[in-house]
Amino acid sequence: MKRFFIQIALVSSLVYSSFGQANDSLRVILSNSEGAEKVKILTELSRSTWHNYPKQAMAYSQEALKISEALGDSANISISLRCIGAIKYYQGNHEESLDYMTRGLDIALKISDSLLISQGYNNVGVLQYNLANYQTALEYFIRSREIKKRIGDVHQAANVNNMGLVFEILGEHDLARSYFLEAYEIAVKSANRSLQIYTQNDLGISHINTSELDIARDYFEEALVLAKKIDNVNYGSVSLRRIGQVVHMQGDYDSAFYFYQQSLEASKSIGDKRGIAEGYSFLSKLLCDQGKVKESLAVLNSSHEIANGLKLGHQLLENLKLYSVIHQKNNAEERSIQYLMEYIKLRDSLFQEVAVRNLSLIPVKIKEERDREKLAQQNTELHSKGITNRLYMYILFGVIPLIIILIVVFKKNYKAYRVLRESNEEVKRTHELLLQSEKMASLGMLAAGLGHEINNPLNFIKNGTLTLFRKIEKDNKGSIESLEPYFDIISDGVNRASSVVKSLSHFSKEKVDMDEKCDIHDIIENCLVLLNFEIKYKSAVVKELTKKSVMVLGDEGKLHQAIMSVLSNAADAIEKDGTITVTTKVNNGNVVVNVKDTGVGISQENMKHINEPFFTTKGHEGGTGLGLFITYSIIEEHNAKMEVLSESNEGTEVTISIPVWRSK
Ligand code: ADP
Ligand code: MG
Repeated sequence: MKRFFIQIALVSSLVYSSFGQANDSLRVILSNSEGAEKVKILTELSRSTWHNYPKQAMAYSQEALKISEALGDSANISISLRCIGAIKYYQGNHEESLDYMTRGLDIALKISDSLLISQGYNNVGVLQYNLANYQTALEYFIRSREIKKRIGDVHQAANVNNMGLVFEILGEHDLARSYFLEAYEIAVKSANRSLQIYTQNDLGISHINTSELDIARDYFEEALVLAKKIDNVNYGSVSLRRIGQVVHMQGDYDSAFYFYQQSLEASKSIGDKRGIAEGYSFLSKLLCDQGKVKESLAVLNSSHEIANGLKLGHQLLENLKLYSVIHQKNNAEERSIQYLMEYIKLRDSLFQEVAVRNLSLIPVKIKEERDREKLAQQNTELHSKGITNRLYMYILFGVIPLIIILIVVFKKNYKAYRVLRESNEEVKRTHELLLQSEKMASLGMLAAGLGHEINNPLNFIKNGTLTLFRKIEKDNKGSIESLEPYFDIISDGVNRASSVVKSLSHFSKEKVDMDEKCDIHDIIENCLVLLNFEIKYKSAVVKELTKKSVMVLGDEGKLHQAIMSVLSNAADAIEKDGTITVTTKVNNGNVVVNVKDTGVGISQENMKHINEPFFTTKGHEGGTGLGLFITYSIIEEHNAKMEVLSESNEGTEVTISIPVWRSK
């Protein structure tokens, strides 16, 4: 009961609804515009008024058409023709409407405007549907939809809904409903409220046809509320009529009468002849059910007259059926049968055998197509799911192990890196050790000589001291002059001992300095002193040193080691009666130290290897093969250069040039 009053409230405001503010402002703009802009506004105004004020809407569209024709604006001519067609359709003037629609469509085709063509097809389809040319209607709807799909138009709710209408008529309720639902969803999504009402009404009708009256009523009521909200009298009247039908079927004749009356009033207010015809028909049925046969027939006649004029095939069929029922109720059996025959005749003409067969195939085809679409969609879903699954699998079996491998590899690499770093340090250490070991080798090699060198002066000192002691003891009073040679021997021995000790001090140096000012000649002299014992019995030493001493910047100990290596190699190369010539020259800011020997020389083959560590031809004599290798590294450290020239059995010449620090 509560529900009922809500509707009364809704209904009362439906018919007398006023224009929205949007229209008022549009009219203001209209007075200030012209040309294509004016056409646009006129069309907008026509659209927003054609459901409630068809005459006004018609005036707007006529003006729009006139301006468009004057402008030669084909697209707007097409649109205006369509609008006029739509208004004619809402008034139930199907043939006139079809004429305008077809003209509009022709122009759209001529200018190849896909959207207009698609809308045109849909409109023609609606007209064909109302004229009960269902197959043709469906063909137009499908064509329209294909274009809309192609151009990606989301506003295809009306189109989809209309396809549902055809299936509903054919009794394909499930299929019809799926179309209505799809249309409803599109309408809601695109916030097209007018279309939402349209589809809600059709969903309701579809539920009436399957006797789900409560659901049907919910749809109609929702549609009615929305229709009231947006002032759509046309669609609101459908909702009212259909709510009436529901309560009628539920046996609430009074309410039904009220709703039918309201609906008729609304339809009449907008000149909706199709709505009036249906409203009268529904009212007639109610009157019949109430036993008011006379009134029932009178009202039905009114409906039938309009339906005949509009060639409303479906309404005519419904009415003929109703005539038959009423006459049967009135015990006019003959007339009843007569109407029944008429009904069958009309039905057969509308649903021609071939047409029906073809039509009945269309739902199957479309069903198949939709199934295929669904399957394809499922497949793509499955596919994408498969991809996702595969992705997870890849992650699980590919990426994760990859990460693990990467971690392992990284760890290994890091380990390797550390090992490498350690071994690098080891190499450095070894290198240092090698330097040290060469040092030690040199020292070891010279140990005997050193002993001898130190022992000899010490012997001089010892013998000299002893002799001196005896001499002083014997002569007691001898002259000082006779003692001088003994003193000379002692001092010579002491000097030599001290110079050997001084030479040794270079080797004992652990610290590496590159900023020591080294006297090259001192170094050479020191080396020769150390090598004296080895050299003196087999070779002469010729020194051709610059008069001035030459200073270089570097590590004295290392330079000492380098020159020592070269000199000792020269000594090694000489078996007997040889000469070692040591020359120094200053040339281009470099001191050139040249060590030339008349030794065995180096074969061409060995020449390639002399810088390699551990290359030695003196294995049996305790050669280490490190001398030149270390010498090169020392020379490099001092930005110096070394060159070795040699010829077998001729001798060897080693040239070292070191940047001069400053010459004294
Ligand atoms: P080692 O002296 O311990 O053998 P080196 O690196 O000092 O190692 O010298 C490498 C090799 O080069 C020597 O074994 C020798 O065959 C050759 N060599 C170096 N200097 C000379 C030289 N002045 N005369 C002949 N051969 C030389
Ligand atoms: Mg050597």
